[in-house]
Amino acid sequence: MKHLIKISAVFLLGTLGFQNMNAQKIQKVNGKNIVNPFYSRTETKILKVKNSEWKKVLNDNLYMVSRLNETEMANTGKYNKFDGLGTYYCGACGNALFKSDAKFASTCGWPSFFQTIRPKSVIYKKDVSYNMVRTEVRCGRCDAHLGHLFDDGPTANKKRYCMNSISLEFEPLAKNSK
Ligand SMILES: [Zn+2]
Repeated sequence: MKHLIKISAVFLLGTLGFQNMNAQKIQKVNGKNIVNPFYSRTETKILKVKNSEWKKVLNDNLYMVSRLNETEMANTGKYNKFDGLGTYYCGACGNALFKSDAKFASTCGWPSFFQTIRPKSVIYKKDVSYNMVRTEVRCGRCDAHLGHLFDDGPTANKKRYCMNSISLEFEPLAKNSK
């Protein structure tokens, strides 16, 4: 009996770990679990994928924000008031974007960071929509829309990466590691 309990505990932990690692890689799209073949946390080669292909593997919310440049409502995102320790990846392709130690509490309504993990984690584009001139921030690997960059941040570089939670995937630091 004891042996059996042990085996189920290991199985359960294994399953949870698997789900966590694949939170965005496997998504429910139209009620079905779909594996995103473009997703990788190690690959940095630039992806060129049509929106029609993305639509098949991303859930509706992520598709709308990452591929159609929608913005989630202020103060609604799951990472807005969140201070877990770990790494933020692109929800569409798994590219590493931000460390939690570069996140700061902002009152703007969206999760905010002052620097990316690598300079090439993201790319920048001039955005003139809504009669404003802004700097759009997109994923450096898959060109997903992530949010915008402003120059009113609290650190010396004044950068504020104002991101959509929907475009991000958070992975907590593994226990016993720093
Ligand atoms: Zn990406």
